[in-house]
Amino acid sequence: MADEKNDICAYSVRLKCQRPAVAGREYCIFHDSDPNKDVQVFQESLEAELGIKGKLNFEGFRFPEDFKIDFFQGRSLPEITLADAVFRNTVSFNSCLFQSDADFSFTEFTDKVTFAKAIFSKDHEAKFFLTRFPEAMFIETDFQGRTDFGGARFLKTAYFSGTHFSDVSFLAADFRDTAWFNPLRNTRISVFLSKAHFNNTFFAKNAYFQETDFIGQAKFLSATFEETADFSDASFLAEDLETDFSRTKFNGFTSFENVSFCGRSRFEVESLYCCKF
Ligand SMILES: [Zn+2]
Repeated sequence: MADEKNDICAYSVRLKCQRPAVAGREYCIFHDSDPNKDVQVFQESLEAELGIKGKLNFEGFRFPEDFKIDFFQGRSLPEITLADAVFRNTVSFNSCLFQSDADFSFTEFTDKVTFAKAIFSKDHEAKFFLTRFPEAMFIETDFQGRTDFGGARFLKTAYFSGTHFSDVSFLAADFRDTAWFNPLRNTRISVFLSKAHFNNTFFAKNAYFQETDFIGQAKFLSATFEETADFSDASFLAEDLETDFSRTKFNGFTSFENVSFCGRSRFEVESLYCCKF
């Protein structure tokens, strides 16, 4: 007869998993890294967990390769952590309502992920700290509370078109491909409501902020734009010195054409290759 200890999942990072281990395996169905594990059992078990009241702790879950793309789509979710989780296929959180804190810190998406028209509720936090994204689509997403993309890595195109942010930090985030913050066709204008912090953010390719409204603080301290940085027709509406491009490096074509500035801005940039005002 198996030792009782061996019947409990061995996953223990922040919290010790108390779920039963899969027969003959060390981990439960959620933490087992076997890419060929039974997706049907995984999804049914996940559905059961979603039915339990209270915080959803999906930390470290290993999603199987054929996990249903739209499994989460359109759901209203209470406080949820998917920290350290690994998704092996495309996944959609489109139109989800995150009613409370949502933690995607250290989450690894290995294929496209979409959060189109998702809502992250006011007075709660959306954490994408050190999250690894391939193509990421946050089109017309509403981040109504504090949002942290600190150290996030965007390996392919990142779309934040028509997205509304309240208080967001992209501290030391790394965009390896094009970053779109301007409205795509048929999307609304992107708005940064109270704080937009891009301090130490690195844009390896083009970054588009055309027509974007920065209503509060806009800080790009020591940010680097290696290629095009397009802020044409953007509006910076903050009070004096709340718009700050100190030590920013603009190493490609830069445009501030038709930009509106309300208060005085700091423009002590470290480098400016070719700029159109
Ligand atoms: Zn487990």
